Amino acid sequence: MDRRQFLRTSIAGVGALASLSLARRSTKAAATQGKTEGKVMLKLCSQDGRIPGKSLKEKVDNLLKWGGVGLEFGGMDVNRAKQLKADLTGTGVGVAALCFGYFSLIDPDEAKRKQAVEAVKRALDAAAEIGSTGVIVVPAFNNHPQLPYEEGRKVLVDLCPAISEHAKKVQSRILFEPLNKGEARFFNRLEQAAGVCRDAKAEGICMMGDFYHMAKEEKDDEAAFIAADGFLHHVHLASRARNLPGQDDRSFVAGFRGLKKIGYQDYCSLECGVKGDPMVEIPKSFAWMKQQWEEAVV
Ligand code: MG
Repeated sequence: MDRRQFLRTSIAGVGALASLSLARRSTKAAATQGKTEGKVMLKLCSQDGRIPGKSLKEKVDNLLKWGGVGLEFGGMDVNRAKQLKADLTGTGVGVAALCFGYFSLIDPDEAKRKQAVEAVKRALDAAAEIGSTGVIVVPAFNNHPQLPYEEGRKVLVDLCPAISEHAKKVQSRILFEPLNKGEARFFNRLEQAAGVCRDAKAEGICMMGDFYHMAKEEKDDEAAFIAADGFLHHVHLASRARNLPGQDDRSFVAGFRGLKKIGYQDYCSLECGVKGDPMVEIPKSFAWMKQQWEEAVV
């Protein structure tokens, strides 16, 4: 399966992920040379709970009407993944990352870390079944028991090969999410998560970025995304106050420029609140982001 086929498959929400070694390969050089194999484009997406609708069909209809192409779901098992995949097949809406969140991978208790690895494997099974981009993983929020940073980082890197082996087997990946210090003291910046991915030397270990957390932790959105080149496979969208993009002063231009420079081809997904009526404000926000994407000249 080549990259173009992979994109089509992702958008249709069916089928397996492309070869992870291909998907993880750095695209920076190719983008610089104008030879990116797939099309770099803004693939707008949303967590399913953010989109108004009494049923999945109503949500899909609204999303498509507003120019969205993907939905992100929360954690699920393989059975629910099968059902959702069937429900979405043929709609034109793909499945972005599955937002599982916390797994106790840096817990001081080794038995809990082993249980967490098994839980991540089951999450990968569901992500693979539904044709998702991958499993969002937070190693610890501030209120969870956790090893000190350096020790936790070493433990995490050591657990990655076992997780990656399963990810490769089912053709999926995990996506570490750096959060702001108020939520998690274990990696806050994209370059820290990229460092773990790099040190893990394991194909299924990847990461994401979230504009809300980045506004608090990154000095330069463009440089932050470039630091994640080769590992970045999901993006969360929110304004500075964690409302819809465009509802406050947060600019997305520098971040979008970084995404273009690394040849980013995965989803950008709403994870935010809304000020006002979602039926009015979400399409306005999508239009505003398309404008920001155009302004991100590289
Ligand atoms: Mg997020």
